[in-house]
Parts: sequence; structure tokens; C-alpha cells
Amino acid sequence: MQSRAVPAFYFDGKTSRKHAVELTVAAGVASISGEAQRQAPLSELRVSEPASRAARKVTFADGAYLEIADIDAFAELLASTGYQEPLVVRMQQSWRTALYATVALVVILALGYRYLLPAASGLIANALPESVERRIGSGTLAFLDQRAFAPTTLPVAQQESIDSRFRALQPPLQGAPDYRIIFRKSKIGPNAFALPSGEIVLTDELVRLLDDDDALMGVLAHELGHLHQRHLMRRLIQGSAIAATATLLFGDVSALIASIPPLMLDLKYSRDIELEADDYAIAMFKANGISLDKLARTFEKLDSQPGEFSPYLSTHPPSKERIDRILKARME
Ligand SMILES: [Zn+2]
Repeated sequence: MQSRAVPAFYFDGKTSRKHAVELTVAAGVASISGEAQRQAPLSELRVSEPASRAARKVTFADGAYLEIADIDAFAELLASTGYQEPLVVRMQQSWRTALYATVALVVILALGYRYLLPAASGLIANALPESVERRIGSGTLAFLDQRAFAPTTLPVAQQESIDSRFRALQPPLQGAPDYRIIFRKSKIGPNAFALPSGEIVLTDELVRLLDDDDALMGVLAHELGHLHQRHLMRRLIQGSAIAATATLLFGDVSALIASIPPLMLDLKYSRDIELEADDYAIAMFKANGISLDKLARTFEKLDSQPGEFSPYLSTHPPSKERIDRILKARME
């Protein structure tokens, strides 16, 4: 069966002369007739990709070619021969595919933000030289000392006893980080956090609030967990991905340091990260044969703290979920 004739111009590939012809296809062979005659099996022809409304081009093996302006008639002819546009072309032509591609891109970006950036921040945090962490830690502490802290009023004996008690505990995992417990009187109330340089800061207010060494051990173990997992560095890197990149590329720590104080004042760890630090504390209590009831009590105590917006509570929401998890870990 012969296809409908499609008007075309034939160029012999050697001169610029245009020959008005008609293209037909029959039994797998293309024929042109009119100002030029020629036949060729379809398998020897190359068909140009469709580009919006541009003329299509069909090229013969020797370089001669046809230009076809009536792209709809040509598309029909192609279809009648069972010709399939290359996959990419078909995808480009389909608006539906374009929509899917857009959705996929958005999903990839969202996943990247949700999973890749945290993962990358972990890698970056681990790759940063210790000197960077030390500078960030001391810079942050200096900033807080200036604005939020005063020297501790706790008796030295009490500081030493808390310190030596925690030091006597075995960390649950290999490679526990070096740490130093420091005490500060605080304008921001009961609080505890770990700086990348290894300082675990306890405020006098938190020590008085808990008024219980075991409960304090729970807070310290939790903070050591943050330190072990480099949570603060990861959080800071995520919060300042660009500055962190600059740090890696140019070794310019000042950009990263400059980005920290505002982040510290608004520090919130994700639920997952809090649970990770809780798990570390649970493992540490277990490894040292301390009852997990005491760890649970730490959080209950923080929970019962009056006042709506205690900083420790806002950075470490002691939810019932966390307490339940600790109690459940007793049976495991
Ligand atoms: Zn925490």
C-alpha cells in the first residue's frame, strides 16, 4: 500500500538547487517524483528530530536531502510506516512528561534538602579539621560569655564532684570525644549544650533545678551524645551551607563563625537528632548499670519546670514520647 504523497523539496547535497517533489512510501521504500526522481529503502534514510514547527529533513545516504514543510502530513506518513520518534523526542513532545519531569525535579530537590544536605553536613562535619571546631567552639563561647553568661556561682567542690562523677562513667561507644564540663551562671535560665570544641556547658540554673546528680548525669550523657555525633556542627553546617562550603574551599572559618551566634540563640535540633542523643544517654546509663528510671526522671523533672519558655525546654522539648522511649529501653 502506498502512502499519501507529501510535498517536499529535494536538494542533491552538491548544489543549492531546489527540486519540487512529492514523497511517497510503499513497502519500506521511499520514492520521490516530480523535478527529481529517486528511491531508497527507509532503513537508509535519516529523519531529523522534530523542532516545534520547523521543517523536517530526511537525509539520504549520499548527503542528498528532502525538506518537508508540511510537518503534519509528514508525521502521518511516518506513523503509517511504523516509524517511532526517538525516545527523547517523544518525551520532549509530551506535556505530560514535562509535567512529570518538573514534579520529579521538585521531589529530588526536596529529598536532597531532607536527606542529602543532612548526610553531606555529616560528611563535612567529619572532614573539618579539629582546629576549625576549636575555633568555632571558642568563638561561640566568647560570644555567649559576653552576652548571656556570667561566671558560675556554684561551689568549686560541687563542680568537681559533678565532673568526676561523670568522668567515672564509661562512654557507651568507641571513640568518645574529648570533652570538658564547664559551668556558667546564665541570663537564659536552665540550659545545657555541647560546643564543637568539646565544652559541655551546664548553667548553674540547670544544676539547681535538677538538684540531683543522677539527673545531671542524664543531661551530660545526652550532651555527650550530641558531641559524639557532631550534631551541633552538622546543624550549623546545614544552617549555613554556603558559609560551610566557603570554609571547605577557602579555609575561611570566619564566615562560618560569623553565622553561628544567631543560630545558637535559635538552636533547635530535630526530633530525630534529640532521639539519637537520648539513645546515647540510654546506652551510657546501661553500660554503667545506672537505672534508666533515673534518666526518665531527668526529663520528667525538666518537664515539670514551671514557666512557659525555658530555653532548655525549647531546645530540648522533654516530651512524653522521649520519656516513654527511655522507660521502654529498660526491657530491651
Ligand atoms: Zn539535645
